[in-house]
Amino acid sequence: MTDFSKIPAPVYETDEPVTYMLEAATAWIMLNRPRYHNAQNAQMLYALDAAFKRAVDDPAVKVIVLGGEGKHFSAGHDIGTPGRDVALSQNRRFLFPDHADKPEAEFLYTREHEAYLGFCRRWREIAKPTVAMVQGGCIAGGLMLAWVCDLIVASDDAFFQDPVLMMGIPGVEYWAHPFELPPRIAMEFLMLGERMPAATAHHYGMANRVVARDQLRAECAKIAEKLAEKSGLGLWLTKQVINQAEDLRGKRAAMDSVYHMHHFAHAQNDLTQGNAIGGMDAKAMAAANKKQAGEA
Ligand code: ZN
Repeated sequence: MTDFSKIPAPVYETDEPVTYMLEAATAWIMLNRPRYHNAQNAQMLYALDAAFKRAVDDPAVKVIVLGGEGKHFSAGHDIGTPGRDVALSQNRRFLFPDHADKPEAEFLYTREHEAYLGFCRRWREIAKPTVAMVQGGCIAGGLMLAWVCDLIVASDDAFFQDPVLMMGIPGVEYWAHPFELPPRIAMEFLMLGERMPAATAHHYGMANRVVARDQLRAECAKIAEKLAEKSGLGLWLTKQVINQAEDLRGKRAAMDSVYHMHHFAHAQNDLTQGNAIGGMDAKAMAAANKKQAGEA
């Protein structure tokens, strides 16, 4: 079994895993672990939640742009950097139990309820418009952060991928694949786990716009400027009607049911391989990815 108590204490490479900058009426919130391709550890996710809260609380902020420093938007959840901190449970934001002292499957089930599913749903409901600014890789947990935003603007070098079937898992925790993509395309996206280029994501409606890499920030700024001129309440109501329509199509219910399959798969990995993520770490995932892409 995975013994979470044996995971070494995290060594953080930064005390600012998320940066925040107000420019005109836009809060620019940037994932800031470029050395690790913005792998999401708990330190980052709690900082991100605090940044969103700050933007919500500040009446000067009309629009939020979420981006990532460096070459990639986000490589997903942290499964192997020195800052991996799955046992971190301080400052919990929800009324779920502390996961850190829970045995076996209950540990991850409880943790992901808060840090993955809980946070993403909460961020989807932010009462101000949000724009994801995506360059490079937007992988697994990275998809979750892009998907909770209202609009997705990608650079032409961006790609989207959910390769967690390599761990025997049917997709990430915030499971929105057949709502972001047509079902058969979502099936292929999950079964083959290949990189989907920005142009293809745009073709299927997952990305609103694709622009040259050096135009990405300017394009997001332009959209933010236009949004900032509109009624804040009107925008909040608009995002609610779209989100509500998606939930009436079953998005929320599907996500709830898949969350439990996701954790059945984690538990099966643990029972059969002694590791909840099938023995995969960042290096193993990258190597398997390269092999699949024919690069190695
Ligand atoms: Zn999981």
